[in-house]
Amino acid sequence: MRLSFLGATREVGRSAVLLDTDSERLLLDYGVKINVKPTEYPKEVKTKLDAILLSHSHLDHCGAIPMLYHQHQPCPVYALDITRPLSKMLLIDSYKISRHEEEPERYQKRDINIAVRHFKAVEYKKPFKIGRVRVTFLDAGHIPGSGMILLETGNKRILYTGDFRLSDTRLISGADKDIPEVDVLITESTYSDREHPDRLKEERKMVEAVEETLANNGVALISCFAIARTQEIILTLDEYELGCPIYLDGMGKKATNIINSYPELQREYNSVKKALVRLEVKSITNSAMRKKIIKKPCAIVTTSGMLTGGPVTHYIEKMFDREECTLILTGFQVPGTEGATLLETGRYIHEDLDLELKMSVRKFDFSSHASRTELFNFVKRTNPDKVFCVHGDNTQRFAQELREEHGFDALAPKDDKIYTVE
Ligand SMILES: [Zn+2]
Ligand SMILES: [Zn+2]
Repeated sequence: MRLSFLGATREVGRSAVLLDTDSERLLLDYGVKINVKPTEYPKEVKTKLDAILLSHSHLDHCGAIPMLYHQHQPCPVYALDITRPLSKMLLIDSYKISRHEEEPERYQKRDINIAVRHFKAVEYKKPFKIGRVRVTFLDAGHIPGSGMILLETGNKRILYTGDFRLSDTRLISGADKDIPEVDVLITESTYSDREHPDRLKEERKMVEAVEETLANNGVALISCFAIARTQEIILTLDEYELGCPIYLDGMGKKATNIINSYPELQREYNSVKKALVRLEVKSITNSAMRKKIIKKPCAIVTTSGMLTGGPVTHYIEKMFDREECTLILTGFQVPGTEGATLLETGRYIHEDLDLELKMSVRKFDFSSHASRTELFNFVKRTNPDKVFCVHGDNTQRFAQELREEHGFDALAPKDDKIYTVE
């Protein structure tokens, strides 16, 4: 059988792997590279697909799927049930942004609806067959509904990790503990060169930053990704019993509603809804409300996570010169994004805005990816004969370390090569 990597080779973004067994052609993810302009797409699929297997709803994994329907690939998309509404939400949002920015149109809005109609829900640990390939989704512990995809065909076992995290977060449990040994491992490598700081310490520091801001009569503006991070922050604020008005704004509201409809995917059943009730979190729906709430000390949880747009832009515009306020970043800021530029220069530069911030800016690590140690441990645990390192800025270094220090046959694939697995 043959593997070709249509993206995410030596980069984060455009995840797409094509598995061709001669009788079946399966596409593992088909994502875009966001936060670059214009958006980058994976290599074209030149064959007729039997199925798309989607690891999770992030755009770097699903963002190019509508393009396949635009090109009349009528195949099903297998994913956890929650991945369908979450993907739809992100796809529609990214389509709107691409129209606003007048990017070349790679597909039309109706192709998103066609794609969504082709989703077929799968469950963790319930194997199913596509032709002669046995497919099993295992919990990847990254975001609600994220899966590692185990493919068994002939006497070969292939595992595609998608994005994963081994240790628990407040929202979800870490990846399945009983993942079997495999012959071929295709692993993400996002943090292959970095450890995460201690999570509990990081949580405490974030809550302290919010409390200090409130004590100074300021507003704590917490910028979050809509999926998983928003809910993780809500659960953290609940854990530390933050006693101030808390507001939720932006796409995180919709993501929270979707995640609340799948209470069984949360580490503690229905924990998010319970926290929202306990904290009396209010949703912000219009600009009049936005204007009003920033007059008094409060915490606002809002998108986008890298300050690339959404209500966080509006709040920064209104509060940038208020020294008593704090902007809190809760995730990695991709180089080139407004968030990364702000950390480097102290300026918020977005479309027509160029603001020097007097409000303080703090950044905390709430990552939902495996750390360097977890990545190495995972490779050892699955004990593969062959490792393909993808989805990382340092995949070559990671593969080299796996080869030279741990004796694995590891490589960072190139996207113009076909790899045969015997
Ligand atoms: Zn992801
Ligand atoms: Zn990813």
